[in-house]
Amino acid sequence: MRFRTKQIHAGVVPDAETGAILTPIYQATTFVQPSVDEYMKTGYSYSRSGNPTVRALEDRLTALENGVDTAAFSSGMAAINAVFMTFLNAGAHVVISDVAYGGTYRLSQSVYTRFGVEVTYADTSDNDAVAAAIRDDTALILTETPANPTLKLTDIAAVSAIAKAHRIPHAVDNTFLTPYYQQALELGADIAIHSTTKYLDGHNATIGGAVITAREEDAEAVRFIQNATGTIMSPMVAWITLQGTKTLSERMDGQSDNAMQIARFLEDHPAVDRVVYPGLESFAQHDLASQQASGYGAMVWFELPGGVDAGKTVMSSLKLWTLAENLGSVESLATHPVTMTHAAVPASERDRLGITDGLVRLSVGLEDVEDLIEDLAQALASA
Ligand SMILES: *Cc1c(COP(=O)(O)O)cnc(C)c1O
Repeated sequence: MRFRTKQIHAGVVPDAETGAILTPIYQATTFVQPSVDEYMKTGYSYSRSGNPTVRALEDRLTALENGVDTAAFSSGMAAINAVFMTFLNAGAHVVISDVAYGGTYRLSQSVYTRFGVEVTYADTSDNDAVAAAIRDDTALILTETPANPTLKLTDIAAVSAIAKAHRIPHAVDNTFLTPYYQQALELGADIAIHSTTKYLDGHNATIGGAVITAREEDAEAVRFIQNATGTIMSPMVAWITLQGTKTLSERMDGQSDNAMQIARFLEDHPAVDRVVYPGLESFAQHDLASQQASGYGAMVWFELPGGVDAGKTVMSSLKLWTLAENLGSVESLATHPVTMTHAAVPASERDRLGITDGLVRLSVGLEDVEDLIEDLAQALASA
């Protein structure tokens, strides 16, 4: 099956008893066992260990990412935490992209170091820097590409090859492009991670996460952590996310088209210093973007010369764009990372990573692009 067919059908069959075309929300804790001899005959016993609605979403994501299994979680952070718990023992070393989701930085830096885990935040856009960061005790490489918020790219195939040569698992946070545009496992990664909160749901309705594995032994290990920690996705969230995935390709294409037009508009705007979007020829890694993904996504950022004050003025002048921390939904959102998503990252660290005071991050939605551009134009006039 091809992608669009899978995003609608994979994981779901009509309900055997009623013919319901959608997998019901199995809102139940307990599954009655037919007999002592047939324990777990249905595959279900207790919803922390497995639930049919959650399983339907897990099977769909496995099909979309071309993996062997998926474990769904209560959030994207719970998914990342499960990957850490699966591969990191006390004292282990992990290499993480230096530009990454703020929560990934917080979890690794403020929680895992308490257990003696040592973290190297490496510039994973530079293959040599990845190789140089690897130590004898490195147990995991976690990359995020495109990275939040600067959109810096990691060459998934190249880093996977380095990881394989050292027998280290490579996990890719594939939230920004989704399997529709970026097949992380096909490119060589061992694990794909998602905040399903973003494009997979796509409607600002749920918080969820998923870990898709390429190897059976990893699948089992991640499932063990899912059950052991209990950080599971709820049946309701899985059901809503299942509906979201059906239009993933259409939303991604529509939002990315809008993003390209907005990036070009901003590029020509005199009040804007710099525009960064992987689809622009001016993007530093434009060739890699075209080569490892089939689309450029719907995240754009631009820089205002006036720093924090200009950022705040423009943000508060927007009318249609919503000032909010989320991304990936059909509603267009604008974020000021320095005061919002990346406030937890120390200022010195932000400077080094290029997260400047005047940086405005846009998550482009599915509205009429003319309306989005008109609103940006009137807000920029105030800068
Ligand atoms: C949002 C996000 C996360 C965290 O996901 P939650 O669902 O908010 O816990 C992780 N990685 C990336 C790239 C994200 O955008």
